[in-house]
Amino acid sequence: MKIIKFGGKSLSNGTGINAVISIIQNKINNNEKFVVIVSARGNATDELENILELAKQGKEYKTQWQEFKSYQISPAPAIDFSKEFQLLEKIFEGVQLLEEVSLKIKDLVLAQGELLAAKMISKLLNDKGIKAKNIDSRKIIVTDEQYGNAVVLEEESKKRCQTFIDELEENTLAILTGFIANNEQGSTTTLGRNGSNYSAALFANFLNAEELQNYTHVDGIYTANPDLVEEARIIDQISFQEANELASFGASILHAKTIIPLIEKNIPLRILNTFNSESKGTLICRNGQKKGVKSISVKSGVSLINLEGKGLLGKIGVDARIFNTLGRENINIGVISQGSSERGIGFVVNSKDDDRAVKSLRKEFSNDFSNKDVSNITTINDVSVVSIVGQNLQGFSKPYQSLVKNNIEILLINNNISGNNISLLIDNQQVHKAINIIHSQIFGVAKNINIAIFGKGTVGGSLIEQILKSQEQILRRKETRLNIFAVAGSKNLLLQKEGIGNNWKSEFKNAKQTKDSIKEVIAFAEQHHLENLIAIDNTASSEFIKSYPLLIENGFDLVSSNKIANTVGFDFYKSLRKELKTHNKQYLYETNVGAGLPLIDTIKLLHDSGENITRIKGVFSGSLSYIFNAFSESEESFSSIVKQAMEKGFTEPDPREDLCGNDVARKLLILARELDLENELDEVQIRNLIPENLRGGQVDNFLQRIEELDHPFELLKEAQEKDHVLRYVGDLHGDLQQSKGELDVSLVSVPKNSALGQLSGSNSIFEIYTESYGENPIVIQGAGAGAAVTARGVFGDLLRIAEKR
Ligand code: ASP
Ligand code: MG
Repeated sequence: MKIIKFGGKSLSNGTGINAVISIIQNKINNNEKFVVIVSARGNATDELENILELAKQGKEYKTQWQEFKSYQISPAPAIDFSKEFQLLEKIFEGVQLLEEVSLKIKDLVLAQGELLAAKMISKLLNDKGIKAKNIDSRKIIVTDEQYGNAVVLEEESKKRCQTFIDELEENTLAILTGFIANNEQGSTTTLGRNGSNYSAALFANFLNAEELQNYTHVDGIYTANPDLVEEARIIDQISFQEANELASFGASILHAKTIIPLIEKNIPLRILNTFNSESKGTLICRNGQKKGVKSISVKSGVSLINLEGKGLLGKIGVDARIFNTLGRENINIGVISQGSSERGIGFVVNSKDDDRAVKSLRKEFSNDFSNKDVSNITTINDVSVVSIVGQNLQGFSKPYQSLVKNNIEILLINNNISGNNISLLIDNQQVHKAINIIHSQIFGVAKNINIAIFGKGTVGGSLIEQILKSQEQILRRKETRLNIFAVAGSKNLLLQKEGIGNNWKSEFKNAKQTKDSIKEVIAFAEQHHLENLIAIDNTASSEFIKSYPLLIENGFDLVSSNKIANTVGFDFYKSLRKELKTHNKQYLYETNVGAGLPLIDTIKLLHDSGENITRIKGVFSGSLSYIFNAFSESEESFSSIVKQAMEKGFTEPDPREDLCGNDVARKLLILARELDLENELDEVQIRNLIPENLRGGQVDNFLQRIEELDHPFELLKEAQEKDHVLRYVGDLHGDLQQSKGELDVSLVSVPKNSALGQLSGSNSIFEIYTESYGENPIVIQGAGAGAAVTARGVFGDLLRIAEKR
């Protein structure tokens, strides 16, 4: 036989009660053997409680009472509820008169909700030709006299249950009331709010049921609250023990007492949804799933109390005094944590009790305060206990790291001895984000990487296109969802929580104007609980870099194609690294030198692995590479080659920005700093290729006179040895073990058949000399400029960070 229990929401008017009737009909058609247990319909218990309270305060309650009655009779207006209604009316009048009510009377009132429900269901079934009988379970379940939360006397109840079964007419479906009982004197008691689940479990136990089916308004037990975690899913199977842990941590499906009668007889409990016949629900049984099911639940409205003091070390009985004090105050203690140094003890209480708890502890420890053994008793309010049921500590390191990386402050962590439950104490503000992070780590669902892109010029624009294009593939292959939630231009800011799509350009045009996109992006991420944040700087702005620390403090990792942050003063460089370290954040900028070529990464790797880098030399600039490669090969004048380079888009709009050597100098400095050298930009010796008299003034003016460069460069070319070519190189040398190296940017003549001499097109080349590689440098060569390759490099950095999250 099975026990089928329907909750109050399942029995509500309309869809609910209709579904219940057809569920019962189907079971009968399938020849299933079962009895039905019902709660009060809709919100009947709350409503009765409310009317009683109004009456007790001598207030008017007639409207609520009328509403209650019409709701209750609505599915079968011809039903005879006169006995229950008259009883309730008499009680309400009496209570209103006396302005007083006992718990005993209250139980009698609340019990009517279940009695009406059982009557209604059997009436509706009878109307359909099904033989059903409503049974008042007060005749069966016997309790002690604790009204409102009575304790069941199991032996006696079990005996009476047998009698009821023996007396039940054949082929009659029993519709039993949940929640209500009688004490030995025959007065009505109740088993505590939500107690009809418990009644159902008791009946299952007494009748040796094969299964208890609990019809609710949810699909089952979820891996996390689906309102908070989009990816939450139903757990097919879970063990009693795990379900019990969940029940005590706010998963409201189960009354903690409920599962005990089931465990005793090993009766599986199935949670089903009255409103969704498709859902298979969750099965709670002895072993659950072998793998160990995990579920995350949140209990909010708690406070952390901390008792601290030097004098607590080795002192016997402090904990006992704490617990006794709170016990006397009837304050329940949740998670507890105490370090082995015993310098302090932290524990969790319900927020409504925190003031009382602190007061009573201050009183208890007043002597210890005065002799300074105890220095402080503090409270942190507005925290939540997040508990991960079925999770052991060994497997928790990745979720833990991910929480830390996301700036989630864990106030306290605790794992229970059986090793199957981890509890974390987290500020309410951060809970939403935290459980999403934990959930995606534990269940291996795709992690979200939330990206803000600053600067949407050629590099920024290409990057967005590249990301949008490979988004799907990355989701499939790496289970990583790249979500561009912000695009900031110089004036506009586009914000989209779910991420921009292919029509982002038109949306960006209509996006709102902003004066401070950085602050707005940070606020937006915070407001929408976005995790795994990465900010990308594709600007060339020296203003923007001042906000790097702010972004880091707010949980962003950084990727940048902007070189400025690495080439302003060494103080800034150092403090930025410190900031990154403090907040456990990354800053990648592979494209600062050689665009997408894996240069910085290689140098970092060599340097960090202890390889002594002795020199780095190469052609760092794509534009100057083109100019000198072409000039060395052809008969044409220097100025005409520069103009060609301009036309091909290889130079900046003002070619002097390339020719002056500053860009190469910045790149050289960035590499030097990778080797922990503390050089400054003004220490780089730069061979400026522009004659002094042409350095100032408008670009047009310069271009008109550019031919003045031809003669000097022609002379340089001719003065070379045979089979030599000109190259504009950056060279980092000197004793690189010292705090500073020598940085030169100069025009040199090299043999045509050397690595530098063979360079062609607008390629860059970097020679890295190290101690182990001796005279044969590691050479990295390839396209070292251009929007597409630079964007590709930024993308690479982005993925590198995403992977570590
Ligand atoms: N009707 C009772 C309540 O609302 C019992 C139950 O629903 O389980 O608490
Ligand atoms: Mg690079």
